[in-house]
Amino acid sequence: MAPKVFSPYQQAKADLLDRLGKYCCYCERPADLHIDHIVPKSRHSELEEDWTNLVLACVNCNATKGNQNESRAGYLWPDQDDTEAAFEYCRDGIVQVRNEISESMRTKAKRLFHLVGLGRRPAQNPTASDLRWRKRREAWSIAESVRSMFEQASDHTQMGDLAVKVAKGIGFWSVWMAVFSDHPHICERLRDEFVGTASLVECERRRTAFTRKSVQSLGPTSEPPVPRSAP
Ligand SMILES: [Zn+2]
Repeated sequence: MAPKVFSPYQQAKADLLDRLGKYCCYCERPADLHIDHIVPKSRHSELEEDWTNLVLACVNCNATKGNQNESRAGYLWPDQDDTEAAFEYCRDGIVQVRNEISESMRTKAKRLFHLVGLGRRPAQNPTASDLRWRKRREAWSIAESVRSMFEQASDHTQMGDLAVKVAKGIGFWSVWMAVFSDHPHICERLRDEFVGTASLVECERRRTAFTRKSVQSLGPTSEPPVPRSAP
């Protein structure tokens, strides 16, 4: 397949929605999405239209990330790494880096966590426009209510269908996966229905579908420091 060219890069949005779904790649919120350059285009202009450098992000994740990272090196990235294994989603909209992962993965996960401000809450960063935590907390509460209805329902098939539909509307896939963790059949369906949450092999196939150019071969390879106030 010939490499697909997106020039200007904004033309990639429809294909990115097909590949990643209508949610922010970092916080998983269904918000007004912007095209995010994983390696900032201000640092590597040659990657501005590179399909493998593009994901979708909400305004808060996109703005918080800015052009801080020089390259992909040293961070986990939602389009190529197992962020599901790295982050734990908890009641009250809390996200934290898991303890039970390798030190190397934990270090990279902490860097991504701080890069996009995944743990920001009003008490720490009272930014009225940053609704990520509040929306995640709402999603958790809705998911718990739906789970309760699912568990009490006489027709699990019908309620399961409804749960998946509501999850797709509300977004925050990881929240639903956590709340329905005792119901593997529903988790399996959530994985099927949310594009971009497939197995890593499938994610990698989609990421490189249009071009084989390696982003990781470009730019500085030295790793950034680990934030001191890591969770
Ligand atoms: Zn976001």
